[in-house]
Amino acid sequence: MLLEKQNSPAGAVVGRFAPTPSGFLHLGNVFCSLLAWLYAKSRGGKLVLRIEDLDPQRCTRQSADQLAGDLEWLGLTWDEGAYVSADSESYFQSQRSAIYAHYFAQLQEQGLIYPCFCSRSELHAAEAPHLSDGRIIYAGTCRHLTQERRRAKAPTRATASMMATMRAKALSWGWKAVTLLCAAVMGFLPIN
Ligand SMILES: [Zn+2]
Repeated sequence: MLLEKQNSPAGAVVGRFAPTPSGFLHLGNVFCSLLAWLYAKSRGGKLVLRIEDLDPQRCTRQSADQLAGDLEWLGLTWDEGAYVSADSESYFQSQRSAIYAHYFAQLQEQGLIYPCFCSRSELHAAEAPHLSDGRIIYAGTCRHLTQERRRAKAPTRATASMMATMRAKALSWGWKAVTLLCAAVMGFLPIN
């Protein structure tokens, strides 16, 4: 579901604020919320509040409640989303895991993602010559591992209490390929 399109006439401006409820509202939250609010309201649009509570270790409903209350107290109210819409719960990311799992399974079935077993230090070591403006460009070390190699490497990560990172094959082809990948997953393009 694209929140920005829901119940909005074509061309209508919809702002979105999506805080992580891992503690009290901080100045960064207020600044971002204010910008989104001003942008939407100055153009006669509306504001959506989405709660990014995907990390169960850090995010609590209590923090989300507090955060929403603080935004209201500041006058940075929203028109759609958590706490105000009839389907309020669907604006909490933690309630949408099944949707993401569904599309993740599709990517796996179509062979469009692969497990990466590289540690952070290995990624840095492999990419040292290619570092630019602080970004790391993945060398594709794990992209073409055989099933046997993947099975052999998996226990290493399990022992270290780390799951393998899943990488999208299309990312190394650039944004045009990513767009095609999304279109394929959504059923607009055939994948061979
Ligand atoms: Zn890797």
